[in-house]
Amino acid sequence: MVKPSIHRPTKATVNLKAIEHNINWLKSQIDDKQKIYATVKADGYGHGAVEVSRAAIRAGAKGLAVATVDEAIEIRQAGLVQVPILVLGLTNPRGIVDILQYNLTITVGDAEFFRLAYEELKATNQLELLSLYNLDVHLAVDTGMSRIGVTTKEAINSFTKEIRDFPWVNWIGAFTHFSTAGGGPEEYVEFQWQAWLELNEFLPVGVTERHFANSAMGMWHNERAPKSTIIRFGIAMYGIDPKDALSTDSDLKLVEETSIAALQPALELTTEIIHVKQVPAGTSISYGATYQSAQEEWIATLPIGYADGWHRHYSVVPVLIDGEYAEVAGTINMDQMMVRLPKAYPVGTEVTLIGKNSGLENHPSMIAKKVGTIGYEILTSIGPRVPRVYWS
Ligand SMILES: *Cc1c(COP(=O)(O)O)cnc(C)c1O
Repeated sequence: MVKPSIHRPTKATVNLKAIEHNINWLKSQIDDKQKIYATVKADGYGHGAVEVSRAAIRAGAKGLAVATVDEAIEIRQAGLVQVPILVLGLTNPRGIVDILQYNLTITVGDAEFFRLAYEELKATNQLELLSLYNLDVHLAVDTGMSRIGVTTKEAINSFTKEIRDFPWVNWIGAFTHFSTAGGGPEEYVEFQWQAWLELNEFLPVGVTERHFANSAMGMWHNERAPKSTIIRFGIAMYGIDPKDALSTDSDLKLVEETSIAALQPALELTTEIIHVKQVPAGTSISYGATYQSAQEEWIATLPIGYADGWHRHYSVVPVLIDGEYAEVAGTINMDQMMVRLPKAYPVGTEVTLIGKNSGLENHPSMIAKKVGTIGYEILTSIGPRVPRVYWS
């Protein structure tokens, strides 16, 4: 496992107060009965799953959502045992012992999971676990994302029938996922909504958790009834607009000035100048010698590179130093990169890659727009070599 490199100044600072603020803001927008589940997959979107989970629970999240069983185990092992953890992806039935013992709630798309899990327990002489633990499950319902889950009422009906063979299974929930609420044709939201309403009719009454909302659905479609009993609050909890993929520059401005002003980005990525020099005109900088100084220039070296998740194609993203932009000079290396300074700064000067710096901001959505992706990818790309530092 890669260990965080603490002997260099590059770090991601996570403001847990911002996470709490964003959850409190969402809470003010929804019904008291709706439960917020903090989505902390991919190490809490790069912020640190355990710390974010703790902050989210402090702010009133009633559960957590992750992508994999292993992510859930990490959180349980950190001592967070009091809330449900829903694993959103499909899991390997071979992991049934961990799933039971760590009290995880899993997602299934058919009853085959239970047959295979039973066989696994039998083969390893652990069937007695089924008298100690129950398995809580949610059924994935595919209404148009075409990723996982049942697509028809027939499939729901046969699942309903088959699950009776497994009295150790508690079928407590069903959920779907919308593909265009955060960007794409609005009509498709309506299409999926109709499919969801229709398939809901075939779920047994005992399946009481029925949820469809991620950040975008929770923020912009929460008027739809029956309401999502759980809101699987992800990107917006980290302070990022779920629609940042679509926004033109002016959209983005609008979004930031209006509803999304309520959301506070929680993560800042900073480093320090570790080397600085003045180069004469015509000096080639970095691999490939793609950059030549046009005149005498101040060039600083920063201890961060693509192996930290600051990808090579981020060379179009200026960094912030002392309230000024500094353009990247040449290609970004694995562990280092060079920038052109507006003037001389000493070694040790703070540099902001993501976040605010004396009135300027490198907002994850802006960076995403510049490099042709979405804020989610900017945040989750920050690698394990970058230490996470928390304040709350
Ligand atoms: C990742 C994920 C979420 C959270 O989505 P955001 O857009 O980050 O709010 C919710 N539900 C499912 C099924 C997911 O995979």
